[in-house]
Amino acid sequence: MISCLILGSGPAGYTAAIYAGRSGLKPVVYEGLQPGGQLTITTGASAKYLGLTDEKKYQGMGVSACATCDGFFYRKKVVAVVGGGDTACEEATYLAGLAQKVYMIVRKPFLRASKAMQDRVMENPKIEVLFETNTLGLYGENGVEGAHLVHRKGEADERQYDLPIDGFFLAIGHKPNSDLFKPWVKTDETGYIITEGDSPRTGVPGVFAAGDVADPHYRQAITAAASGCKAAIEVERYLKTL
Ligand code: NDP
Repeated sequence: MISCLILGSGPAGYTAAIYAGRSGLKPVVYEGLQPGGQLTITTGASAKYLGLTDEKKYQGMGVSACATCDGFFYRKKVVAVVGGGDTACEEATYLAGLAQKVYMIVRKPFLRASKAMQDRVMENPKIEVLFETNTLGLYGENGVEGAHLVHRKGEADERQYDLPIDGFFLAIGHKPNSDLFKPWVKTDETGYIITEGDSPRTGVPGVFAAGDVADPHYRQAITAAASGCKAAIEVERYLKTL
């Protein structure tokens, strides 16, 4: 009998395992489903991509879906962020602190982000928003050197052009890896697992969720690790009640 099963082996999963191990629970970290006494879900969330072949071609060579992870490599360089939501505005603002210039590639004629985030973007002299613009592809010899863009696609005044950039950041949303658990645990409209307050309790006794799969806001390795620690403590407490 496994007393503590952890599904997912990212920062939340590993931290939950370390803490569960410290309390003598002999946790098993697993990527699939297996019956056990207690379950911690730490399957993460995957960044959405546009679906361009070039995104795969230049992955790690100028294409990123995490400004806080990779922004450092673009100090004093020119980057573009795709998306017009809060994440895109946050990423663009963060990158503006490092890069020489930040373009935001936004498919609509307006930003979807909250007013406060929009204001922060619009007031930043390093950020230029390219509205009604879509990405057709990327180019470059040994990494991203630019993006093929189209302005007002399908309209009479459609214009295609190339924008020289060093980095291409996706910020068009995340998909939590929760599909497998939806029949049993509550999720929000995007699919993030809903937990009780700031605890990892899902509402199903003995089932806990930690890390990005239950975090629509922060999605950082360090916050995932912290929630993994909380989950392990909850597991220990739960098992004592059995
Ligand atoms: P959102 O779904 O809010 O925004 C996604 C953005 O990407 C939209 O501008 C959307 O365009 C664009 N987009 C989606 N697909 C494509 C595509 N194929 N091509 C081009 N553009 C595309 O996601 P976020 O990650 O920004 O935010 C998720 C949630 O988290 C929101 O509720 C947000 O408020 C919240 N959040 C809050 C923060 C905060 O409070 N500080 C920080 C970050 C997120 P379109 O508008 O045309 O659909």
